[in-house]
Amino acid sequence: MIDNIIKLARNNIKNLIPYQSARRIGGENGNLLLNANESPVSVLFKSKKKIFNRYPECQPNNLISSYANYVGLLCNQVLVTRGADEGIELLIKAFCEPGKDAIIYCPPTYDMYRVNAKIAGVEIKEIPTIKNTWQLDLSNIELNLNKVKLIYICNPNNPTGNIFSKKDLLFLLNITLGRSLVVIDEAYIEFSIKDSMTNHLKQYPNLVILRTLSKAFALAGIRCGFTLAHTEIIKILNKVISPYPISIPVCDIAVQSLEIDYIKLMQNRVLDSNNNRLWLINQLKNTACVEKVFESHANYVLVKFFIFEKVFKTLWEKGIILRNQNEKMNLKKCIRISIGTRLECLHLIKELKIFSKNNIVQGGFSEI
Ligand SMILES: *Cc1c(COP(=O)(O)O)cnc(C)c1O
Repeated sequence: MIDNIIKLARNNIKNLIPYQSARRIGGENGNLLLNANESPVSVLFKSKKKIFNRYPECQPNNLISSYANYVGLLCNQVLVTRGADEGIELLIKAFCEPGKDAIIYCPPTYDMYRVNAKIAGVEIKEIPTIKNTWQLDLSNIELNLNKVKLIYICNPNNPTGNIFSKKDLLFLLNITLGRSLVVIDEAYIEFSIKDSMTNHLKQYPNLVILRTLSKAFALAGIRCGFTLAHTEIIKILNKVISPYPISIPVCDIAVQSLEIDYIKLMQNRVLDSNNNRLWLINQLKNTACVEKVFESHANYVLVKFFIFEKVFKTLWEKGIILRNQNEKMNLKKCIRISIGTRLECLHLIKELKIFSKNNIVQGGFSEI
């Protein structure tokens, strides 16, 4: 009986490889979780609201104006969503006709662009970035613009950590003006704020920017993100968003996190994280089992190991949970490591040095 029921699912869903979130893959309480790019420290908030019998506003005014103020935009250029992930989905819902339109994304990158397009039945054009520099393959993108409504670019890119050349992004905005939207996912932009594209929204009506409170703001648990765009695009997205996407406690806490004192605290955490990243990268470069450390502008670093599988497994067994990137395009033997507190970084390096010592054989590494 259940077999017949299962057959009712849409074909693209039956064939879907779902997103593998860090929380689904595992790691237990008490583990050192360096696999989801979360903030290693938390901020204490209390919801001030006590009664919940009424629905919230669809787009809570005070939250929209707090975020607009933070990014220096007008309220009508801001949409608040259930995490940046919902922004990714709403854009496809609103702009892409299944079976007709396409999206471009540039792997290795965040997987949710692919997953959301697949769920919607929208064609995907993968245009890989250039190996090791991880910059855009602009000529290949230009050749593939036919049918493309959305181009997703993650900046800084997850998991490689690089920033895209501003010249390239502006070139892309120019060649797509009037025919496609360029969606810049700035989930990690606070770690490299000078590279934000918000200043270009005025000039480019085809520019859309995604933001979140999940990373630098240390609020992954409340699920709150923002889409920044021309007011006419925000209006279209408001047509497809669910009626009450932001619960009252979420709104309450998000508004508090955008008060000036909390923004200053966030900026201090970013400074700490960026310092820890520099320290960690230096240490990793002096660790024998490490083949290559990629430059990063975010709260994680991509590392290539000589013997990747054994490193990953050994650390996992010691309760240090990292993010395996080995199956991703052009990322053989790579692991993404979130930047923890300095103590956590120290602990990680200590274990990697022990691992190196135990596994080195006559100047090389043994995979067995
Ligand atoms: C974490 C992440 C998101 C998701 O943000 P949420 O606001 O938690 O949904 C979006 N894009 C990228 C690149 C991310 O790494």
